Amino acid sequence: MRRFSHLGKTAILFLILFLLGVHMTAEAKGTIHRAPFGKLADGTAVELFTLKNATGMTVKITNYGGIITHLLVPDKNGKLGDVVLGYDTLAGYLKASPYFGCIVGRYGNRIGKGKFTLGGKTFTLAKNNNGNSLHGGLIGFDKKLWKPEAAVGPEGPFLKLSYLSKDGEEGYPGNLSTTVTYTLTGQNELKIDYAAAADKETVLNLTNHTYFNLAGSGNILEHELVLHAERFTPVDAGLIPTGELRSVKNTPLDFTKPMKIGARIESKDEQMKLGGGYDHNFVLNSGGGKMAPAAKVFSPVTGRLMEVFTTEPAIQFYTGNFLDGSIKGKGRQVYAKRTGLCLETQHYPDSPNKPAFPSTLLKPGGRYATTTLYKFSVASGLSQ
Ligand code: BGC
Repeated sequence: MRRFSHLGKTAILFLILFLLGVHMTAEAKGTIHRAPFGKLADGTAVELFTLKNATGMTVKITNYGGIITHLLVPDKNGKLGDVVLGYDTLAGYLKASPYFGCIVGRYGNRIGKGKFTLGGKTFTLAKNNNGNSLHGGLIGFDKKLWKPEAAVGPEGPFLKLSYLSKDGEEGYPGNLSTTVTYTLTGQNELKIDYAAAADKETVLNLTNHTYFNLAGSGNILEHELVLHAERFTPVDAGLIPTGELRSVKNTPLDFTKPMKIGARIESKDEQMKLGGGYDHNFVLNSGGGKMAPAAKVFSPVTGRLMEVFTTEPAIQFYTGNFLDGSIKGKGRQVYAKRTGLCLETQHYPDSPNKPAFPSTLLKPGGRYATTTLYKFSVASGLSQ
């Protein structure tokens, strides 16, 4: 029996080849896989998304807090290893987390006395840090369940997370709709796009709080660092900026040239004492507003290099000074002091109370949009 004509057979062959081609092109851009990641106390299901690119670089992100739980990047021998701190299970994050891998909002870092004034009205925020408000308050964006949308796009696999923060949440004015999109590109880059809009005047400063360790374990004191910042914002005893922009010249905060993180961390410098190590906002030379290099960090042990690019005007360099060994994380690793470092791209802390600082005001009808990109590669050293 003759079912298909010769022409029909050729058409079917072409269709199969076409579909195979489409599939292979999609594979070449990477894959995305979603799986259950436990439940919240009220029974709501949480998911874990695994984004993988064609070279094998893998990032796992949960829609609880938008937390990056795993980030597997190659070392100098091409061996993939996890370079971020975190927990194996959702239960770990729910119990206690020093902001491992999460989205921070509405306001990254501190707002002094948990208060600010907008349009003549004073807003009182949830205070959670020595009388100040830190990282959005008691239940910040790091503890919210985000609505996920995952697909493979032209740049690679992405996860778009959305959250609507209601007027008055944690004391902040305005209904605020936020999206945070994580994209893993074929060039071993993890890109984070933040977007938001509000229906009332409000303030906003979103960031990500991943603790990196490019060696995969141990402390980060042997890592080398460059910060593209000639100035920083000195802090008081509560880690609130004094308002001054100070030169890093002749201070332990000078990372304009490659420097070991541990080289000057125990310095008697007053700012180093106040931070208990590095916990400072560095003013980027770019001034913000356009994508520009912010930092690069290198592990001489594994050869891993991470470069940070951002549209933000500043970066918080925090050396995990408050980690104290009480947390057992992934694979039962004990996270002792300085076993992870954060490079949080941001606006300056306490900007709503410092009119001279770049503004964090978001007006109704206005659009908040920032981008930060972490690029991974291997190198033999850190160039300037
Ligand atoms: C802050 C630290 C704080 C830490 C919380 C950092 O962004 O700068 O002062 O202790 O987050 O984990």
